[in-house]
Amino acid sequence: MKIVICASEMVPFAKTGGLADVAGALPLALEKAGEEVIVIMPHYKGIPDAKFAISKLKNDIYHTVIGKKIKVYFIDNEVYFRRDSLYGDKAGDYSDNLERFSFFCKRALELLKAIDFKPQVIHCHDWQTALLPVYLKNYYAKDNFYQDVKTVFTIHNIGYQGLFPKEDFPKLGLDWDLYNMEGLEFFGRINVLKGGLLFSDIINTVSPTYSREIQSAKFGFGLEGVLAQRKDSLFGIINGIDYSIWSPEKDQIIAKNYSFRDLKSKGRNKEALQKLCKLPVKKEVPFFGIVSRLAEQKGFDILAEGINHICKMDLQLVILGTGNLKYHLLMEEMVKKYPEVISLFLKFDDALAHKIYAGSDIFLMPSSYEPCGLGQLISLSYGTIPLVFKTGGLADTVNASNGFVFDKYSSLDLIKTVKKAIKVYADKTKWAKLQEKAMQCNFSWEGSAKEYIKLYEKASQKK
Ligand code: ADP
Repeated sequence: MKIVICASEMVPFAKTGGLADVAGALPLALEKAGEEVIVIMPHYKGIPDAKFAISKLKNDIYHTVIGKKIKVYFIDNEVYFRRDSLYGDKAGDYSDNLERFSFFCKRALELLKAIDFKPQVIHCHDWQTALLPVYLKNYYAKDNFYQDVKTVFTIHNIGYQGLFPKEDFPKLGLDWDLYNMEGLEFFGRINVLKGGLLFSDIINTVSPTYSREIQSAKFGFGLEGVLAQRKDSLFGIINGIDYSIWSPEKDQIIAKNYSFRDLKSKGRNKEALQKLCKLPVKKEVPFFGIVSRLAEQKGFDILAEGINHICKMDLQLVILGTGNLKYHLLMEEMVKKYPEVISLFLKFDDALAHKIYAGSDIFLMPSSYEPCGLGQLISLSYGTIPLVFKTGGLADTVNASNGFVFDKYSSLDLIKTVKKAIKVYADKTKWAKLQEKAMQCNFSWEGSAKEYIKLYEKASQKK
């Protein structure tokens, strides 16, 4: 099958979160499964062209190759993509994100014609590419080249919908007929994600539990009704992780490689991490790690409520992430108050993330909702036991045999579960069993890619 993956970020070129991991790993897994895949993403300023052998193909199209022969196309635009960040700066989201990503979606479709690649399926991800199915079914509907091209749309997080003022609608170049309750209108604003949900042939999200949850008012962020309408075309496929990047046996970044047969060497990583964090080097103290956006969604509201209590326990905690200023300030205050307990890195740092996954004992991920979550999958691979709230992909991947799960979202329950983890950690036999179970989990892309191929087949059969 001929497949196009279209996304706004992708490992190894540009990453702000899990979407990039997925968009980078899925094409490789599809190629391994025998599919013909190309990828399209924006040509951001931060992408080091020379490092990835990216060169100009023609006009505004750049390209390179990944895997065996997956062509990656980058759409260039001086005004839209030559900026320091992908989506926004300190002041917030870029005010012209609607123009930036509607431009990207149109150009991605035009690029297919320019390179004469007619796919069976275009696979779009999140609101940044949600306008592509809208343009395909409306703007380009009469163009022969695009006949029978189908779309699969993946929701990585329904909390981010791409909402813009009604006044911006003419910038899309779409007919006003599409701006109503049955179309892209959403409480008086443009909802780009809604467009993707309405016009794609198949919709999926990144775990079975989350695909059910988002059909409810509690998790649907106002789009539960639209999803209920499209229930028969809505699926859930758990993400994989790329074990060539996230494996303690092969990881080139960590202090010492290890496997579940050699967990002593994991201790070397703990020691190195404690030093790096300027925390006391103590073998016996349970070391908690967080690699995350500092956002409510990631559990920072209940963590903030419980942090004083947690810091008084016999543990250490390292936090790596950026996000909400109020959590930056709170955690900075905690570092001042408990310098021997907590260490903080307010930045995005891939290498440090590797060191935290390898060096900590317990990975804290108490998200209030979590479409799939990659942090817990990565930590399992490193024998770092995840502690999670039972929701979405966390509920589908972590249980009592490989981690700690609490099912009432409150700081009290979080604290209780942290205490429980500390207790189990002290029991070396139980801990070793947990680590072994965790490291034996396999969330490789191979299985998920097969599921995606089935979805592509379903999409291509749609009338
Ligand atoms: P999200 O909702 O942010 O996409 P996921 O758990 O799905 O959350 O994926 C997050 C990905 O981004 C993981 O690969 C995680 O290791 C990485 N990550 C998050 N924050 C940071 C950071 N500050 N530095 C490095 N990597 C990070």
